[in-house]
Amino acid sequence: MQYYWTLGSVLRTSRVGEKDKRLVLFSRELGRITALVRGAAAPDTHWATSFEPFSLLYLRLYERSSYFVVTGAEERVVYARILSSLSRSLKGMAVNQLVECFAGPSVQEPSLFAHHVSALSHLNLASTTEHEDLVFLQFCLTLLSELGFGLSGLNCVTCGSPIDGPAYFSVTDNGFHCERCCDASERGPLSPELVCFLRNPEGPLDHRRTLAGIALVTRLLTEVAGRLGVGPSFEKLARNTTTLFRFS
Ligand SMILES: [Zn+2]
Repeated sequence: MQYYWTLGSVLRTSRVGEKDKRLVLFSRELGRITALVRGAAAPDTHWATSFEPFSLLYLRLYERSSYFVVTGAEERVVYARILSSLSRSLKGMAVNQLVECFAGPSVQEPSLFAHHVSALSHLNLASTTEHEDLVFLQFCLTLLSELGFGLSGLNCVTCGSPIDGPAYFSVTDNGFHCERCCDASERGPLSPELVCFLRNPEGPLDHRRTLAGIALVTRLLTEVAGRLGVGPSFEKLARNTTTLFRFS
């Protein structure tokens, strides 16, 4: 039997029967996997770790035909502040769901793993709703870029040319338009501050623009999800995002 040691972030858990837990993990070495922890849900569990989301665990596991079984675990980091606020936990769950939806099963994605852990640690430290929302937008943008749909160079979806001047967002095409190709149904151009942040997600951005950015990135991710064949699983997440970030 082959054993693995891996650093993994718990994305989601569910109970299996009376005593066991099933974990959806994002592992640095193994990608997105499902793992069973025997006895983790029992009241007299011998496990010192709690196996809950927002925990980074060092795990020893072995592989069965379609899942892994955890035989050892050591807590590395528990992002306890995420759990201490409803708003932060909901946004943390949204980050975890994005990973679960877009990370390929058993595909090693160390760079996405690093971005995911960094998003959780920033969310853990966020002290205002504005900051939490900005962390979420940043994560969505790095995710797009990891998936090969980064926005560092914005191109018009109609004529294909790079957009240097004002950029418009088309909700019919779920993409950007240059000034020449924008149509009357599109609201005014996007603010230059937002466009700059979409291209390079660093530095500050005010809350109104952050929410506008999340709305727009959710549409882009819907488009990408369709192309990657994960449209149906992203749909529910997109609806939750709309409620969570209250834009429209
Ligand atoms: Zn154009």
